[in-house]
Amino acid sequence: MFTHRDRSGFLPIGQLHALVGRLMQLGYQCQGPAVENDAIVMREFQSPDGVPRGLQAEQSPGSYRLTRDPGNRYFAWANGPQAIKPQAFAPKESLWRVERDEAGSLRFAAVLPSAPPLAIIGVRACDLAALALQDAHFLHDGRRDAHYARRRERLFLVAVQCAEPGATCFCASTGDGPTPSAGYDIALAELADGFVAVAGSDKGAAVLQSLNLVPASPRQIDAARQQGQAAAAAQTRSLPGRNLRETLMNRLEHPRWDAVAARCLACGNCTAVCPTCFCHAEVDAPALDGRSSRHERIWDSCFGESHGYLHGFNVRPDIRSRYRQWLTHKLASWHEQFGRSGCVGCGRCIAWCPAGIDLTEEVAALTEGEQP
Ligand code: SF4
Ligand code: SF4
Repeated sequence: MFTHRDRSGFLPIGQLHALVGRLMQLGYQCQGPAVENDAIVMREFQSPDGVPRGLQAEQSPGSYRLTRDPGNRYFAWANGPQAIKPQAFAPKESLWRVERDEAGSLRFAAVLPSAPPLAIIGVRACDLAALALQDAHFLHDGRRDAHYARRRERLFLVAVQCAEPGATCFCASTGDGPTPSAGYDIALAELADGFVAVAGSDKGAAVLQSLNLVPASPRQIDAARQQGQAAAAAQTRSLPGRNLRETLMNRLEHPRWDAVAARCLACGNCTAVCPTCFCHAEVDAPALDGRSSRHERIWDSCFGESHGYLHGFNVRPDIRSRYRQWLTHKLASWHEQFGRSGCVGCGRCIAWCPAGIDLTEEVAALTEGEQP
Protein backbone atom coordinates (compact mmCIF):
# COMPACT_ATOMS: atom_id res chain seq x y z
CA MET A 1 0.00 0.00 0.00
CA PHE A 2 1.42 3.49 0.72
CA THR A 3 4.96 2.21 0.36
CA HIS A 4 5.86 2.80 -3.28
CA ARG A 5 5.58 5.53 -5.89
CA ASP A 6 4.07 3.50 -8.72
CA ARG A 7 0.68 4.76 -9.85
CA SER A 8 0.58 7.25 -6.98
CA GLY A 9 0.46 11.00 -6.58
CA PHE A 10 -0.15 13.77 -4.09
CA LEU A 11 -3.53 15.52 -4.02
CA PRO A 12 -3.34 18.88 -2.19
CA ILE A 13 -5.88 19.22 0.61
CA GLY A 14 -7.91 21.85 -1.25
CA GLN A 15 -8.19 19.64 -4.33
CA LEU A 16 -10.37 16.81 -3.05
CA HIS A 17 -13.26 18.35 -4.95
CA ALA A 18 -11.23 17.96 -8.16
CA LEU A 19 -11.23 14.18 -7.69
CA VAL A 20 -14.97 14.13 -7.01
CA GLY A 21 -15.60 16.49 -9.93
CA ARG A 22 -13.60 14.26 -12.27
CA LEU A 23 -15.63 11.22 -11.23
CA MET A 24 -18.84 13.18 -11.81
CA GLN A 25 -17.56 14.23 -15.26
CA LEU A 26 -16.97 10.56 -16.03
CA GLY A 27 -20.65 9.90 -15.34
CA TYR A 28 -20.45 8.48 -11.83
CA GLN A 29 -23.03 9.32 -9.22
CA CYS A 30 -20.88 10.11 -6.19
CA GLN A 31 -21.63 9.07 -2.63
CA GLY A 32 -19.67 10.03 0.43
CA PRO A 33 -19.98 10.83 4.10
CA ALA A 34 -22.97 12.87 5.25
CA VAL A 35 -24.48 13.52 8.67
CA GLU A 36 -27.95 12.09 9.10
CA ASN A 37 -29.67 11.54 12.45
CA ASP A 38 -26.41 12.45 14.23
CA ALA A 39 -24.43 9.69 12.50
CA ILE A 40 -22.19 9.55 9.45
CA VAL A 41 -23.74 7.63 6.57
CA MET A 42 -23.02 7.46 2.84
CA ARG A 43 -25.23 9.76 0.78
CA GLU A 44 -25.13 11.18 -2.74
CA PHE A 45 -23.15 14.40 -3.26
CA GLN A 46 -24.93 17.12 -5.13
CA SER A 47 -21.69 18.98 -5.90
CA PRO A 48 -17.96 18.17 -5.95
CA ASP A 49 -17.37 20.17 -2.75
CA GLY A 50 -19.95 18.25 -0.78
CA VAL A 51 -17.51 16.27 1.41
CA PRO A 52 -17.90 17.47 5.03
CA ARG A 53 -14.81 18.28 7.10
CA GLY A 54 -13.92 18.23 10.77
CA LEU A 55 -16.10 15.35 11.99
CA GLN A 56 -15.15 12.57 14.34
CA ALA A 57 -17.15 9.80 15.98
CA GLU A 58 -16.60 8.62 19.54
CA GLN A 59 -17.68 5.02 19.87
CA SER A 60 -17.97 2.54 22.74
CA PRO A 61 -20.27 -0.42 23.47
CA GLY A 62 -23.82 0.79 22.84
CA SER A 63 -22.71 4.34 22.13
CA TYR A 64 -21.89 6.56 19.12
CA ARG A 65 -21.46 10.32 19.28
CA LEU A 66 -20.25 12.84 16.71
CA THR A 67 -17.60 15.33 17.82
CA ARG A 68 -15.48 18.01 16.14
CA ASP A 69 -12.05 17.09 14.85
CA PRO A 70 -9.58 19.76 16.05
CA GLY A 71 -7.49 19.06 12.92
CA ASN A 72 -10.49 19.79 10.63
CA ARG A 73 -9.66 16.73 8.54
CA TYR A 74 -11.99 15.19 5.98
CA PHE A 75 -11.75 11.58 7.10
CA ALA A 76 -10.96 11.69 10.82
CA TRP A 77 -14.16 9.78 11.59
CA ALA A 78 -14.18 6.02 12.13
CA ASN A 79 -16.88 4.06 10.36
CA GLY A 80 -20.57 4.87 10.88
CA PRO A 81 -23.54 2.51 11.12
CA GLN A 82 -23.85 2.04 7.38
CA ALA A 83 -21.23 -0.01 5.60
CA ILE A 84 -21.13 -0.03 1.79
CA LYS A 85 -23.06 -3.32 1.86
CA PRO A 86 -26.39 -1.78 0.75
CA GLN A 87 -24.81 -0.46 -2.45
CA ALA A 88 -24.22 -4.04 -3.68
CA PHE A 89 -26.64 -6.16 -1.63
CA ALA A 90 -29.83 -4.08 -1.53
CA PRO A 91 -31.81 -4.19 1.75
CA LYS A 92 -34.98 -4.82 -0.28
CA GLU A 93 -35.40 -5.51 -3.97
CA SER A 94 -37.66 -7.29 -6.42
CA LEU A 95 -36.17 -10.40 -8.02
CA TRP A 96 -39.02 -11.18 -10.40
CA ARG A 97 -42.66 -10.43 -11.02
CA VAL A 98 -45.60 -12.41 -12.36
CA GLU A 99 -48.71 -11.14 -14.15
CA ARG A 100 -51.90 -12.86 -15.24
CA ASP A 101 -52.76 -11.95 -18.84
CA GLU A 102 -56.22 -11.65 -20.43
CA ALA A 103 -56.26 -15.37 -21.27
CA GLY A 104 -55.54 -16.24 -17.65
CA SER A 105 -51.96 -17.41 -18.27
CA LEU A 106 -49.20 -16.41 -15.87
CA ARG A 107 -46.23 -14.53 -17.31
CA PHE A 108 -43.02 -14.38 -15.27
CA ALA A 109 -40.31 -11.77 -15.83
CA ALA A 110 -37.00 -11.13 -14.12
CA VAL A 111 -36.66 -7.67 -12.56
CA LEU A 112 -33.09 -6.42 -12.75
CA PRO A 113 -32.10 -3.24 -10.92
CA SER A 114 -31.19 -0.06 -12.72
CA ALA A 115 -27.64 0.48 -11.50
CA PRO A 116 -25.90 3.60 -12.83
CA PRO A 117 -22.13 3.89 -12.23
CA LEU A 118 -21.52 4.80 -8.59
CA ALA A 119 -18.35 6.12 -6.99
CA ILE A 120 -18.12 5.86 -3.20
CA ILE A 121 -15.68 8.20 -1.48
CA GLY A 122 -14.36 7.31 1.96
CA VAL A 123 -14.58 3.50 1.96
CA ARG A 124 -12.68 1.92 4.85
CA ALA A 125 -10.34 -1.08 4.76
CA CYS A 126 -12.73 -3.20 6.84
CA ASP A 127 -15.52 -2.52 4.35
CA LEU A 128 -13.35 -3.53 1.40
CA ALA A 129 -12.57 -6.79 3.19
CA ALA A 130 -16.28 -7.27 3.88
CA LEU A 131 -17.13 -6.60 0.24
CA ALA A 132 -14.68 -9.32 -0.80
CA LEU A 133 -16.58 -11.70 1.49
CA GLN A 134 -19.92 -10.61 0.04
CA ASP A 135 -18.45 -11.24 -3.43
CA ALA A 136 -17.40 -14.74 -2.35
CA HIS A 137 -20.98 -15.41 -1.29
CA PHE A 138 -22.95 -13.79 -4.12
CA LEU A 139 -20.57 -14.28 -7.05
CA HIS A 140 -19.58 -17.85 -6.27
CA ASP A 141 -18.77 -19.99 -9.33
CA GLY A 142 -21.95 -21.38 -10.78
CA ARG A 143 -24.18 -19.42 -8.38
CA ARG A 144 -23.68 -15.88 -9.59
CA ASP A 145 -26.42 -13.64 -8.24
CA ALA A 146 -27.49 -11.38 -11.13
CA HIS A 147 -28.88 -8.61 -8.90
CA TYR A 148 -25.79 -8.39 -6.72
CA ALA A 149 -23.50 -8.62 -9.77
CA ARG A 150 -25.22 -5.72 -11.52
CA ARG A 151 -24.91 -3.43 -8.49
CA ARG A 152 -21.38 -4.57 -7.73
CA GLU A 153 -19.96 -4.09 -11.23
CA ARG A 154 -20.87 -0.40 -11.35
CA LEU A 155 -18.87 0.52 -8.22
CA PHE A 156 -15.79 2.74 -8.22
CA LEU A 157 -14.27 2.68 -4.75
CA VAL A 158 -12.20 5.50 -3.28
CA ALA A 159 -10.82 4.07 -0.06
CA VAL A 160 -9.37 6.05 2.82
CA GLN A 161 -6.81 4.93 5.36
CA CYS A 162 -8.15 5.19 8.93
CA ALA A 163 -5.90 7.49 10.93
CA GLU A 164 -8.26 7.63 13.92
CA PRO A 165 -9.84 4.23 14.55
CA GLY A 166 -12.83 4.14 16.88
CA ALA A 167 -12.44 2.61 20.32
CA THR A 168 -14.62 -0.24 19.05
CA CYS A 169 -12.42 -1.03 16.00
CA PHE A 170 -10.20 -4.11 15.91
CA CYS A 171 -9.44 -4.56 12.20
CA ALA A 172 -5.69 -4.79 12.90
CA SER A 173 -6.23 -8.08 14.75
CA THR A 174 -8.33 -9.56 11.94
CA GLY A 175 -5.75 -8.43 9.36
CA ASP A 176 -8.23 -6.24 7.47
CA GLY A 177 -7.10 -2.68 8.27
CA PRO A 178 -6.66 0.10 9.10
CA THR A 179 -4.77 0.70 5.82
CA PRO A 180 -6.58 -0.52 2.67
CA SER A 181 -4.60 -3.28 0.98
CA ALA A 182 -6.84 -4.51 -1.87
CA GLY A 183 -10.19 -4.07 -3.55
CA TYR A 184 -10.08 -0.31 -4.16
CA ASP A 185 -9.76 1.77 -7.32
CA ILE A 186 -8.02 4.62 -5.51
CA ALA A 187 -6.79 4.70 -1.91
CA LEU A 188 -6.09 7.94 -0.06
CA ALA A 189 -4.06 8.62 3.07
CA GLU A 190 -4.93 12.01 4.52
CA LEU A 191 -1.98 14.07 5.77
CA ALA A 192 -2.08 17.64 7.11
CA ASP A 193 -1.57 19.24 3.70
CA GLY A 194 -3.13 16.70 1.34
CA PHE A 195 -3.60 13.10 0.34
CA VAL A 196 -1.17 10.44 -0.78
CA ALA A 197 -3.24 8.82 -3.54
CA VAL A 198 -2.54 5.35 -4.91
CA ALA A 199 -4.35 3.60 -7.75
CA GLY A 200 -5.45 0.01 -7.21
CA SER A 201 -6.96 -0.57 -10.66
CA ASP A 202 -6.53 0.65 -14.22
CA LYS A 203 -9.71 2.72 -13.82
CA GLY A 204 -8.25 4.34 -10.73
CA ALA A 205 -4.91 4.97 -12.44
CA ALA A 206 -6.66 6.70 -15.35
CA VAL A 207 -8.54 8.99 -12.96
CA LEU A 208 -5.38 9.91 -11.04
CA GLN A 209 -3.51 10.52 -14.28
CA SER A 210 -6.22 12.89 -15.49
CA LEU A 211 -5.74 15.02 -12.34
CA ASN A 212 -2.07 15.72 -13.23
CA LEU A 213 -0.89 15.15 -9.67
CA VAL A 214 2.67 15.73 -8.60
CA PRO A 215 4.38 12.56 -7.38
CA ALA A 216 4.08 11.87 -3.65
CA SER A 217 7.47 12.48 -2.04
CA PRO A 218 9.28 9.75 -0.04
CA ARG A 219 8.55 11.82 3.10
CA GLN A 220 4.82 11.87 2.36
CA ILE A 221 4.73 8.15 1.55
CA ASP A 222 6.58 7.41 4.76
CA ALA A 223 4.21 9.63 6.76
CA ALA A 224 1.22 7.71 5.34
CA ARG A 225 2.80 4.39 6.20
CA GLN A 226 3.61 5.49 9.73
CA GLN A 227 0.11 6.88 10.18
CA GLY A 228 -1.34 3.46 9.36
CA GLN A 229 1.01 1.74 11.78
CA ALA A 230 0.11 4.18 14.57
CA ALA A 231 -3.62 3.65 13.92
CA ALA A 232 -3.16 -0.12 14.14
CA ALA A 233 -1.19 0.24 17.38
CA ALA A 234 -3.92 2.46 18.85
CA GLN A 235 -6.56 -0.28 18.66
CA THR A 236 -7.27 -1.76 22.07
CA ARG A 237 -9.78 -4.49 21.18
CA SER A 238 -8.86 -7.67 19.35
CA LEU A 239 -10.00 -11.10 18.29
CA PRO A 240 -7.67 -14.10 18.47
CA GLY A 241 -5.92 -14.45 15.12
CA ARG A 242 -6.44 -18.24 14.92
CA ASN A 243 -9.41 -20.20 13.60
CA LEU A 244 -11.87 -20.43 16.53
CA ARG A 245 -13.93 -23.23 15.04
CA GLU A 246 -12.77 -26.03 17.27
CA THR A 247 -12.87 -24.02 20.47
CA LEU A 248 -16.35 -22.60 19.89
CA MET A 249 -17.85 -25.86 18.66
CA ASN A 250 -16.46 -27.64 21.73
CA ARG A 251 -18.10 -25.08 23.98
CA LEU A 252 -21.65 -25.04 22.70
CA GLU A 253 -22.93 -25.60 26.25
CA HIS A 254 -20.68 -22.96 27.87
CA PRO A 255 -22.57 -20.93 30.55
CA ARG A 256 -21.51 -17.70 28.77
CA TRP A 257 -24.20 -18.31 26.15
CA ASP A 258 -26.83 -18.03 28.92
CA ALA A 259 -25.22 -14.87 30.28
CA VAL A 260 -25.19 -13.12 26.91
CA ALA A 261 -28.73 -14.31 26.14
CA ALA A 262 -29.94 -12.63 29.32
CA ARG A 263 -28.66 -9.29 28.00
CA CYS A 264 -29.42 -9.66 24.27
CA LEU A 265 -32.70 -8.15 23.07
CA ALA A 266 -32.71 -10.10 19.77
CA CYS A 267 -33.21 -6.76 18.02
CA GLY A 268 -30.95 -7.72 15.09
CA ASN A 269 -29.08 -4.39 15.08
CA CYS A 270 -25.76 -6.24 15.02
CA THR A 271 -26.69 -8.13 11.85
CA ALA A 272 -28.14 -5.01 10.18
CA VAL A 273 -24.93 -3.01 10.64
CA CYS A 274 -22.54 -5.91 10.01
CA PRO A 275 -20.91 -5.49 6.58
CA THR A 276 -20.49 -9.24 6.09
CA CYS A 277 -23.93 -10.59 7.10
CA PHE A 278 -25.75 -11.78 3.99
CA CYS A 279 -28.84 -13.61 5.30
CA HIS A 280 -32.02 -12.70 3.51
CA ALA A 281 -35.63 -13.77 3.26
CA GLU A 282 -37.79 -13.95 0.13
CA VAL A 283 -41.40 -12.87 0.23
CA ASP A 284 -44.20 -12.41 -2.30
CA ALA A 285 -45.96 -9.07 -2.52
CA PRO A 286 -49.24 -9.58 -4.40
CA ALA A 287 -50.99 -6.51 -5.88
CA LEU A 288 -54.43 -5.74 -4.50
CA ASP A 289 -56.12 -6.36 -7.88
CA GLY A 290 -55.04 -10.02 -7.75
CA ARG A 291 -53.48 -9.86 -11.23
CA SER A 292 -49.80 -9.52 -10.41
CA SER A 293 -47.25 -10.16 -7.72
CA ARG A 294 -43.62 -9.27 -7.04
CA HIS A 295 -41.13 -11.64 -5.50
CA GLU A 296 -38.87 -9.69 -3.15
CA ARG A 297 -35.64 -10.28 -1.32
CA ILE A 298 -35.17 -8.49 2.00
CA TRP A 299 -32.37 -8.54 4.55
CA ASP A 300 -33.03 -11.00 7.33
CA SER A 301 -31.39 -11.63 10.69
CA CYS A 302 -30.56 -14.84 12.53
CA PHE A 303 -31.90 -13.06 15.62
CA GLY A 304 -35.44 -13.02 14.19
CA GLU A 305 -37.88 -15.69 15.30
CA SER A 306 -38.79 -16.73 11.75
CA HIS A 307 -35.17 -17.25 10.66
CA GLY A 308 -34.94 -20.63 12.41
CA TYR A 309 -38.44 -21.81 11.47
CA LEU A 310 -38.37 -25.07 9.48
CA HIS A 311 -41.22 -27.39 8.56
CA GLY A 312 -43.46 -26.79 11.53
CA PHE A 313 -40.97 -26.08 14.28
CA ASN A 314 -38.27 -23.60 15.20
CA VAL A 315 -34.71 -24.92 15.39
CA ARG A 316 -33.61 -21.83 17.33
CA PRO A 317 -36.51 -21.05 19.64
CA ASP A 318 -34.64 -18.88 22.15
CA ILE A 319 -32.19 -15.98 22.18
CA ARG A 320 -29.40 -18.17 23.51
CA SER A 321 -29.48 -20.38 20.41
CA ARG A 322 -29.76 -17.36 18.09
CA TYR A 323 -26.81 -15.49 19.56
CA ARG A 324 -24.81 -18.73 19.51
CA GLN A 325 -25.77 -19.30 15.87
CA TRP A 326 -24.61 -15.79 14.96
CA LEU A 327 -21.25 -16.03 16.70
CA THR A 328 -20.43 -19.61 15.69
CA HIS A 329 -21.41 -18.99 12.07
CA LYS A 330 -19.41 -15.78 11.90
CA LEU A 331 -16.28 -17.06 13.65
CA ALA A 332 -16.35 -20.82 13.05
CA SER A 333 -18.41 -22.07 10.08
CA TRP A 334 -17.24 -19.23 7.83
CA HIS A 335 -13.81 -20.82 7.81
CA GLU A 336 -15.29 -23.85 6.08
CA GLN A 337 -17.42 -21.78 3.73
CA PHE A 338 -15.00 -19.01 2.81
CA GLY A 339 -11.61 -19.94 4.22
CA ARG A 340 -11.59 -17.17 6.78
CA SER A 341 -13.61 -15.71 9.63
CA GLY A 342 -16.68 -13.62 8.81
CA CYS A 343 -15.55 -10.75 11.02
CA VAL A 344 -13.47 -7.91 9.58
CA GLY A 345 -13.11 -6.06 12.87
CA CYS A 346 -15.22 -3.00 12.05
CA GLY A 347 -16.71 -2.92 15.56
CA ARG A 348 -20.15 -1.80 14.37
CA CYS A 349 -21.97 -4.60 16.17
CA ILE A 350 -20.43 -3.32 19.41
CA ALA A 351 -21.26 0.37 19.02
CA TRP A 352 -24.78 -0.23 17.67
CA CYS A 353 -25.87 -2.92 20.13
CA PRO A 354 -28.40 -1.25 22.46
CA ALA A 355 -27.36 -3.67 25.20
CA GLY A 356 -23.68 -2.81 24.75
CA ILE A 357 -22.73 -6.44 24.03
CA ASP A 358 -19.13 -6.60 22.89
CA LEU A 359 -18.26 -9.45 20.54
CA THR A 360 -14.59 -9.36 21.55
CA GLU A 361 -15.50 -9.69 25.25
CA GLU A 362 -17.84 -12.59 24.53
CA VAL A 363 -15.15 -14.37 22.52
CA ALA A 364 -12.58 -13.76 25.27
CA ALA A 365 -14.92 -15.33 27.83
CA LEU A 366 -15.81 -18.26 25.56
CA THR A 367 -12.19 -19.03 24.70
CA GLU A 368 -10.77 -18.51 28.19
CA GLY A 369 -7.97 -20.93 28.96
CA GLU A 370 -7.06 -21.42 25.27
CA GLN A 371 -3.91 -20.12 23.60
CA PRO A 372 -4.50 -16.58 22.23
S1 SF4 B 1 -26.38 -8.67 20.35
FE1 SF4 B 1 -27.15 -6.56 20.69
S2 SF4 B 1 -27.59 -5.77 18.63
FE2 SF4 B 1 -27.42 -8.00 18.45
S3 SF4 B 1 -29.53 -8.75 18.66
FE3 SF4 B 1 -28.61 -8.80 20.74
S4 SF4 B 1 -29.17 -6.80 21.64
FE4 SF4 B 1 -29.52 -6.62 19.42
S1 SF4 C 1 -19.19 -9.19 13.50
FE1 SF4 C 1 -19.23 -7.06 14.27
S2 SF4 C 1 -17.08 -6.37 14.20
FE2 SF4 C 1 -17.23 -8.22 12.93
S3 SF4 C 1 -17.59 -7.47 10.85
FE3 SF4 C 1 -19.63 -7.83 11.75
S4 SF4 C 1 -20.24 -5.85 12.66
FE4 SF4 C 1 -18.02 -5.75 12.23
